[in-house]
Amino acid sequence: MRIANIAGRLSLLVSDTKALDVEQASAGRFTSCPQEIYERWDEFCAWVQQADTASARPFDASDLGSPAPTPRQVFAIGLNYADHATESGFAAPEHLPPTFTKWPSAITGPYGEITLPDGGHTDWEVELVAVIGRGATSVAEASGWAHVAGLAVGQDLSERITQLRGPAPQFGLGKSFPQFAPIGPWLVTPDELDNPDDLALGCSINGETMQEGRTRGLLCSVPGLVAGLSAVVTLFPGDVIFTGTPAGVGLGRDPQRWLQPGDELVSYVTGIGEMRHRFRARDNGK
Ligand code: ZN
Repeated sequence: MRIANIAGRLSLLVSDTKALDVEQASAGRFTSCPQEIYERWDEFCAWVQQADTASARPFDASDLGSPAPTPRQVFAIGLNYADHATESGFAAPEHLPPTFTKWPSAITGPYGEITLPDGGHTDWEVELVAVIGRGATSVAEASGWAHVAGLAVGQDLSERITQLRGPAPQFGLGKSFPQFAPIGPWLVTPDELDNPDDLALGCSINGETMQEGRTRGLLCSVPGLVAGLSAVVTLFPGDVIFTGTPAGVGLGRDPQRWLQPGDELVSYVTGIGEMRHRFRARDNGK
């Protein structure tokens, strides 16, 4: 199953180009809000099994928003691929990798323009994103996938000056500028994927490959993250986990490289889809 946020309305995809409006097709049993559906995830999945898809309509990809637009919590995981830990100058973590937040106000959809902060060093980090379907406390790793509603492509955009300025790093602020948490193009349930523990992911700038990796390289897997996070924090339906990025970010390059106005960033996870963003300078009224 794939669900999407189309112009702010919860939709069930019947193909890459046609979707069913859930509120209309369910005669109001479910609301149009894409975020609320995770609160009734099992009930919704049961309804989808017998939903009449005859009223599916073509949609415009530019209307796609984040399939989890307003989660209560957004977790982001650092140093979760060995090659990225190395390029960042850290040893690979032995326990739950460093965990921080991207505030939900940074979430945006899979297409469109993103404004670069003035004077910043804005970097790319393609990531697999997991959205929680069933709330969780103290989940065993073996049960981790059962708490995941689905997967999406994410970009953990990061302004490195704000992030790394001393005396201690500011991961939350450096990674939470407006539009710094694109998620999309839709949510894919794990059962749609041949092997949800081994997905290819990557990104390119203006057609030049920047990152390529596979999620089997995650030091802490998706179910491992659900277990590790839920050992400390209560996970709510609809919460978002950015699972970490493979090597190839601008910070780890020699010379270092940052996103520039006019750059087009394409991010993908095989089996899920791709996102496409164009960057622009802030309009300071000049
Ligand atoms: Zn990241």
